[in-house]
Amino acid sequence: MKILCIGRNYGKHAKELGNEIPDKPVIFSKPDTALLKNNEPFYIPTFSDDVHYETELVIKIDKIGKSIAPQFAHKYYSQITLGIDFTARDIQSELKSKGLPWELAKAFDHSAVIGEFIPINEYPIQDLHFQLEKNGLIVQNGHTADMLFKVDEIISFVSNYFTLKTGDLIFTGTPEGVGKVNIGDTLIARLEGRELLNFNIK
Ligand code: ZN
Repeated sequence: MKILCIGRNYGKHAKELGNEIPDKPVIFSKPDTALLKNNEPFYIPTFSDDVHYETELVIKIDKIGKSIAPQFAHKYYSQITLGIDFTARDIQSELKSKGLPWELAKAFDHSAVIGEFIPINEYPIQDLHFQLEKNGLIVQNGHTADMLFKVDEIISFVSNYFTLKTGDLIFTGTPEGVGKVNIGDTLIARLEGRELLNFNIK
């Protein structure tokens, strides 16, 4: 399976990092070794002093597809969760300044945390509220209505380049409020009030 991610998909987050609003989706990927699930702890890697959480809606693809039209994209997923796109911001800033690819900052082991999957049919996908709580304080509040590129547009776009397969995951971007994690932190992510992730930073 593969993990595809979209960057800068919420205007206020793009601005907080000093980035322009993109005119087409910014896509990057992570290997399957990036996955971390079942609320296992995340160990801060030794190569970064500034690992940030980015809380994101995650879509699980459940049917093979290529060049999917936006109006049919909803047929290709039925489960969602929340995830954390851990980012070594110090490394990313250095790579960005040199115009280099982001993999070392974004695709390292356990950088793609996923919560418990739930069926989408309970929820309107572009009207979902989600939040991240760090050590008892709400640090991110997202609303999927604020996505610059909607879920079905993202699926259509990426499927022109990559055949989507059953089990593939799509991280759909983070709202503003990203920040550093430290050893001892607890992160809890909720979608419409429902806890989907609860894990510790070590
Ligand atoms: Zn992200």
